[in-house]
Amino acid sequence: PNKSIPDLLLDSASKYGDRPAIHFLGKTLTYSKLLEDVRRMADALRRLGVAKGDRVAIMLPNCPQAVIAYYGALLTGAIVVQTNPIYVERELQHQLADSGASVLITVDLLYPRVSRVRGEKPEEGPVPALQNVIVTSIKDGLPFPKNILYPIKQRRDGFRPDIPYGKLGIHSYSRLMAEAKPDPTIHSVIDPASDLAQLQYTGGTTGVAKGVMLTHRNLVANMVQASAWCYRVREGKERFLAALPLFHVFGLTVLMNLSVYKAGELILLPRFDIVQVLETIRSKKATIFPGAPTMYVALINHPQAAKMDLSSIEIAISGSAPLPLEVQQRFEAITGGRLIEGYGLTEASPVTHVNPIWERRKNGTIGLPLPDTDCRIVNPETGEPVAIGEVGEIVVHGPQVMKGYWNRPEETAKVLKDGWLHTGDLATMDDEGYFAIVDRIKDVIIAGGFNIYPREVEEVLYEHPGVREAAIIGIKDDYRGESVKAYIVPKDGVQLTAEELNRWCRERLASFKVPHVYEFRDDLPKSIIGKVLKRKLHEELEGQS
Ligand code: ATP
Repeated sequence: PNKSIPDLLLDSASKYGDRPAIHFLGKTLTYSKLLEDVRRMADALRRLGVAKGDRVAIMLPNCPQAVIAYYGALLTGAIVVQTNPIYVERELQHQLADSGASVLITVDLLYPRVSRVRGEKPEEGPVPALQNVIVTSIKDGLPFPKNILYPIKQRRDGFRPDIPYGKLGIHSYSRLMAEAKPDPTIHSVIDPASDLAQLQYTGGTTGVAKGVMLTHRNLVANMVQASAWCYRVREGKERFLAALPLFHVFGLTVLMNLSVYKAGELILLPRFDIVQVLETIRSKKATIFPGAPTMYVALINHPQAAKMDLSSIEIAISGSAPLPLEVQQRFEAITGGRLIEGYGLTEASPVTHVNPIWERRKNGTIGLPLPDTDCRIVNPETGEPVAIGEVGEIVVHGPQVMKGYWNRPEETAKVLKDGWLHTGDLATMDDEGYFAIVDRIKDVIIAGGFNIYPREVEEVLYEHPGVREAAIIGIKDDYRGESVKAYIVPKDGVQLTAEELNRWCRERLASFKVPHVYEFRDDLPKSIIGKVLKRKLHEELEGQS
């Protein structure tokens, strides 16, 4: 617990210097080389004036530069601001202005967006604190082939734009790195318990994005807690498949930091592409594959998956959204590995619960609290604990719980009470101490005075053999207040009708829970890690009315 995040890398590099740390598109970086590059990055940042406590933003998809930038910035004592590469200008501007980042590290493909945010005279623009922008490119040794970067697929920002290097504080990554020295003495004095490692922005679903302040201790503790749970994570032996983005706190803790801590090999995929995932598991023999449920849905539905040798996978940890049981069973049948469900949130670095992997797991639950994590189910209004088996809000206490929201004491006070984090999620606890998520408080549908938990209805729909994905939301209903709407993505080649699904639901659910409206579509709006964005579905509906 007294280690800082850069200490993890220093320890692994000193013991396992020759071992591969990162694989990316056919290239490999050893731990020694990674540490050398991280030290260069720290020196480069220091030369740009970065000092302890300054904010350094990183806007990169999974690539070695993202890892180097992260540990390099932390080595100087700076606070990393992880920025999602698909953010549009408004979101990017908010995050840069709110955090006061003085440096941003990005890739040339994304530069036009940064440039539009800064304006022609950056010192007079909306983000004057952002004095330096470091731009990496496909020419920087470890290339980004243009067709595999998701920002390109989703936004046509242009490829390799003209970048005015040397002006307006814009620097070439490769040039800065070449000029910098891998100085082994750089390591800012860090107090892990109080010094911030990172601002992780969240809250996009509920309004303005807030910077979650995570200390070195929060993140190191959570990584150690998670690895203690998966007690067969072997030092110097595991190969982690990084399909989750590293700028998201789930990928950051259970992939990047865990792999570096255990001297594992981090196999970086720049975006989630199921064909590439399958091929990489097969060729690189990945052993640990953390992901979001939709990633496992994609795997089990791929026609080649059952024919390929995916038996190297030993552990897959699903988090961020409910894992349908049927997905879990098919994944295990195809790979022979264990797929277990965990739970967490950005404000808890993020993991708080995981099912025991090897013994006594309970399917359909999020398992038990991690070591050193206390958890209660309370009445959301009174804060009083509820009885065993009753639904209430899940509140947690432990070394992974954030320090608060950056510059937002009022928002912090709403969720952090006497050190207990109020998660906004409803759950139950059984008499063996296993927790099951019921739903988010804000997603609960109230129809005619009855509470409907969308998740329960979704589970029933997932059991239907023709359903690939399902999402339930509440829609306005003059009579009942709200009624249930189902969005359905059918499996390839399957024709589904509302009548058929209605019959299916009526056999399995009380009538007030059965959807009133069905909408069939080819896909659902998803977050970067594949979580269905119900907010977008609501917005679509508002746009239509
Ligand atoms: P935003 O950034 O918009 O706030 P978010 O609320 O999804 O997004 P995250 O911290 O990424 O923020 O996600 C945490 C939430 O994800 C939890 O509060 C919970 O609602 C949901 N979640 C995580 N794991 C599970 C799980 N196993 N089952 C059900 N829900 C889960």
